[in-house]
Amino acid sequence: MFTSVKYYGNILVMKRVKYFICPACKEKSFIEMRKEYDGFTVAAEKQVCALCGYEFKEEEQIEYVKEKQLFNDDEKENKFCRDCRYYVVHPWTQKCTLTNKEVTALDTCPRFVRR
Ligand SMILES: [Zn+2]
Repeated sequence: MFTSVKYYGNILVMKRVKYFICPACKEKSFIEMRKEYDGFTVAAEKQVCALCGYEFKEEEQIEYVKEKQLFNDDEKENKFCRDCRYYVVHPWTQKCTLTNKEVTALDTCPRFVRR
């Protein structure tokens, strides 16, 4: 129960930060700053992978995932009925005019044609 709540919190945080592909865990992750203290003063700030804790060296390049690129990839793959030219919305139902069957906006179909 506790861990699932924590995980949900992480997802919310991830939406606002830049993603990168972690060289250690190969996951789409984000940077967490870890402070190292020397007494009460901050001796060093290190960039670590928020998922696996991999520590980046100072000179190491972090390859951020381009948000735009991600978006385009999603565009190509989404073949939802709501984006199809055969999809029509009636006040009481949603229909595919090609098959004349009832569909939902998030249905997918091999005969998808982008409108
Ligand atoms: Zn990692």
